[in-house]
Amino acid sequence: MNITPATAEQEAMVESFRKYLHAEVRPVAHAYKDRLIPRGTVLELTQAIADFGLPGGAIAEEHGGLGLPWVTQAMLYEELARTSADLALVVMINLLAAPALLSARPEVRDRYLPGLIAGKSIACFGASEPGVGSNVADIRTRARRAGDHFIISGEKTWITNGSYSDFLICTARTGEQELSHILIDREEHGYEAHNIDKIGFSSQSTAQIFINDARVPVGNVIGEQGMALRHTLIMFERARAHVGLTSVAIMREALAASIEYATQREQFGKKLAAHQLIAAKLAEMATHVDASRLLCYRALALIDAGVRCDVESSMAKWYATEMAVKVCRDAVQLHGGNGITRSFNLESYLRNAIIMPIPDGTTEIQKLIISRGLTGVGAFV
Ligand SMILES: Cc1cc2nc3c(=O)[nH]c(=O)nc-3n(C[C@H](O)[C@H](O)[C@H](O)COP(=O)(O)OP(=O)(O)OC[C@H]3O[C@@H](n4cnc5c(N)ncnc54)[C@H](O)[C@@H]3O)c2cc1C
Repeated sequence: MNITPATAEQEAMVESFRKYLHAEVRPVAHAYKDRLIPRGTVLELTQAIADFGLPGGAIAEEHGGLGLPWVTQAMLYEELARTSADLALVVMINLLAAPALLSARPEVRDRYLPGLIAGKSIACFGASEPGVGSNVADIRTRARRAGDHFIISGEKTWITNGSYSDFLICTARTGEQELSHILIDREEHGYEAHNIDKIGFSSQSTAQIFINDARVPVGNVIGEQGMALRHTLIMFERARAHVGLTSVAIMREALAASIEYATQREQFGKKLAAHQLIAAKLAEMATHVDASRLLCYRALALIDAGVRCDVESSMAKWYATEMAVKVCRDAVQLHGGNGITRSFNLESYLRNAIIMPIPDGTTEIQKLIISRGLTGVGAFV
């Protein structure tokens, strides 16, 4: 499995992307700290980032992508998340939507995929509803068949990219026992999005979505009708590795700041790093970062190998996201009073980190999946 070290080609790609990110994305991330980046600015950035291979890196060249392994694409993603975790989430949804569109009808794929890969449009996924979170099978949004169309009504919540989005891949009930993914075009079929105020990731959109009798052609079903839960499981493998990597990126920034601080600040006549309890804390933080990172890249390497990896991606997700909370909290502690001020970024890393154990299946749900993989016994209900 090609996890680390990176090849010379991967390093060169990441290095040139890093230079662009430092010059162009870092200033925007700084200017919009804790403020929603406007859609126009997001689109300018996603179009520039598309040239480096996000979100179409892992899409085959015949479909307009670069045909890269998921691992290579993820290295670029991790670098983006280190610069702006907010913008990374926008791109993450697009890079998950791109392969989903490959299983749409050719006319739907050809209409939406090129713009997405070019960073000119923004996708969102709508599964969660006000009464439906961990138990996706309970979804109430209805898609009623009317001739060649579905009439779709329902309310979605916590939708990443919701207010930025051009289209929604909506999980809707197409029969009593049947859930399907249906692409709803915001302009053509209509839905409303209202942003939700959050404690972190405040520069990107998480929204409620209201769908009111949207009339959508039956040809907009993504994948097979009635197979939404199966498609979601495959999508979750990729999503969980990327949510894990987002947390890795946040941790890496918190660790780097902590190393710098511990080697500069002095107390009791010596550097903080020369105090054994601080040295141990740094060692533990670094080990948590590397262990999390390796779990994420293991899951991605399995995806590249075409091996199902729901257990491995669940391990990566719960471990990396929970370790990020711990590492960022340790980083705040290591900075003492400075750690809680807005002049340092630690408070913002911690506010972002604390969000990540929730989306794409909470920590509790990941552990249930892993345990089911180990024992064959489900413990969900
Ligand atoms: C920042 C963010 C972005 C998101 N983006 C999207 C998106 O783009 N699209 C989308 O569809 N959704 C999205 N979500 C929703 C996310 O997937 C849900 O929040 C998540 O699945 C948990 O659902 P819930 O919030 O309703 O919590 P609940 O399911 O109500 O759970 C509440 C608590 O109970 C625990 N719990 C639930 N069931 C069990 C059980 N069987 N055993 C033990 N503990 C249990 C949970 O772990 C949690 O701690 C996002 C959420 C966040 C926070």
